Amino acid sequence: MALDIVLLGAPGAGKGTQAQLLCKQFGYRQISTGDLLRDNSARGTELGVAAEDFMKRGALVPDDLIIKMVEGELHGDEAVLFDGFPRTVAQAQALDAALDARGRGLPEAVFFQIDRPLLEERLLGRWTNPRTGRVYHERFNPPRRPGIDDEDGGPLIQREDDKPETIKRRLDVFEAQTLPLVEYYDHAHRLAAIDATRSVDEVAHALLHVIGMEHAH
Ligand code: ADP
Ligand code: AMP
Repeated sequence: MALDIVLLGAPGAGKGTQAQLLCKQFGYRQISTGDLLRDNSARGTELGVAAEDFMKRGALVPDDLIIKMVEGELHGDEAVLFDGFPRTVAQAQALDAALDARGRGLPEAVFFQIDRPLLEERLLGRWTNPRTGRVYHERFNPPRRPGIDDEDGGPLIQREDDKPETIKRRLDVFEAQTLPLVEYYDHAHRLAAIDATRSVDEVAHALLHVIGMEHAH
């Protein structure tokens, strides 16, 4: 079984874009905590209702809710790509403990390196398929017809938290609460870094290289 991988990077770094590519090509299973939370919110579950206010403000949803949600997803044999999780040291420790308890190896983290101005540009131009989580960008990766998903032909939306003030808040939160995870994984010798400013194809290539799948094409 391939290793579980943590895609570590700021909002807008391209984690979801790369996760979808890897899932298609190599049968990884993507666990995107943002997608799971939005799905819970759309269905009006207790978790969704509890998370909504934090998400709207660009704050992190409390660790206990997130950890419980992810633990509920840790089934099956496929290698997992964690996208948008962990986001705090407490979450990273809980993930290590949960995987260890299930007899799985500890995950490797790949850090997506990219500066703030480019992140803002990516998030401001992002269009999302709320049904599948697939993302486009109005300039960098436009759909064939504006506002329409190429695959399912349904409408794309701009996420409520992809507006300027909330983007700023989310990037501040990333720097304060999630960036320490670089040190956490580096200290454990479980960190690789890639240049996330490059094109989607170039980033995919670099990602495959660091996770040792470059010859699996
Ligand atoms: P994350 O999941 O890390 O928040 P996304 O994968 O949703 O990031 O990407 C954010 C935005 O940037 C999307 O609009 C996506 O189409 C675009 N994008 C992703 N990767 C690249 C890239 N390598 N070059 C240009 N735009 C990209
Ligand atoms: P994302 O789709 O990854 O950009 O996440 C959207 C929002 O969901 C974040 O701004 C947080 O409010 C919440 N969220 C997603 N993942 C986590 C997590 N691992 N820990 C805490 N909050 C999260």
